[in-house]
Amino acid sequence: MFENLSERLSGVFDKLTSQGALSEDDVKTALREVRVALLEADVSLGVARDFVKAVTDKATGQAVTKSVTPGQQVVKIVHDELIAVLAGDGADAGALKIDNAPAPILMVGLQGSGKTTTTAKLARRLKEREKKRVLMASLDVYRPAAMQQLAVLGTQIGVDTLPIVAGQKPAEIAKRAKQAATMGGYDVYMLDTAGRLHIDDVLMDEVQQVRDIANPRETLLVVDGLTGQDAVNVATEFEDKVGISGVVLTRMDGDGRGGAALSMRAVTGKPIKFVGLGEKMDALEEFHPERIAGRILG
Ligand code: GDP
Repeated sequence: MFENLSERLSGVFDKLTSQGALSEDDVKTALREVRVALLEADVSLGVARDFVKAVTDKATGQAVTKSVTPGQQVVKIVHDELIAVLAGDGADAGALKIDNAPAPILMVGLQGSGKTTTTAKLARRLKEREKKRVLMASLDVYRPAAMQQLAVLGTQIGVDTLPIVAGQKPAEIAKRAKQAATMGGYDVYMLDTAGRLHIDDVLMDEVQQVRDIANPRETLLVVDGLTGQDAVNVATEFEDKVGISGVVLTRMDGDGRGGAALSMRAVTGKPIKFVGLGEKMDALEEFHPERIAGRILG
């Protein structure tokens, strides 16, 4: 679909005469292509610009190794830097803070991002891999079908869901979930909050109320990996208003290039913890920075 970065750069470097060390001009020429590649991968403009600047500073003046072409060398520097940004300190991928039972996990995000599916996938993972007793609760009082959807998924994966009580507000459901998790001896309880098509104050107020009741150990933002530039606004907004501990990127089984991962990591500084790779309940993986880096570069 896209020309990959090595191909782009080999063309550029045929015209250059790098000898000894990468000159500022060589690097600038090459990184113009890198910038285009990042934008094509849906990395947001500001993040692409900052990234290119950081790599320019790193690459300029580097000795050219005999075994590789200058183009290959720039690709390697870019690749390493991508992984460094995506990985952060590397300690967080796939790890959830779920000590002190019952540990609350708050799931937030826009409607359609894959929040309910991801809640169930994570519950299944905690149950199967970590042998945790999990309780899931839907707080989506606006869409009875969403509540039902979580109940159906719960039955499918063998995880309990909080019984649905009509007419309750999200804060009341959160209190009930906390109580049921404590009384029922659960290790973890997961709150699947309502999503909206766009971020609005009512949604944020509601999520804040629920957060203050549950005092979550993890607040995971679920974002559609195909949304690209928009993902940054969503992540910034949720980080500012609610505070997030990590991100789950869904729909990474599609043909999106995953630039949202880089943008969100760079802008919020929060780790991407998991990646959704399909509709099935086992289609959830820990985040692997090197896979996304390869995908972004094409
Ligand atoms: P919510 O409104 O955020 O709760 O979204 P849902 O969990 O209901 O998901 C919306 C649709 O996206 C459903 O059809 C899911 O099966 C689908 N979906 C969720 N995660 C993924 C994923 O990682 N890959 C794919 N291909 N589809 C997904």
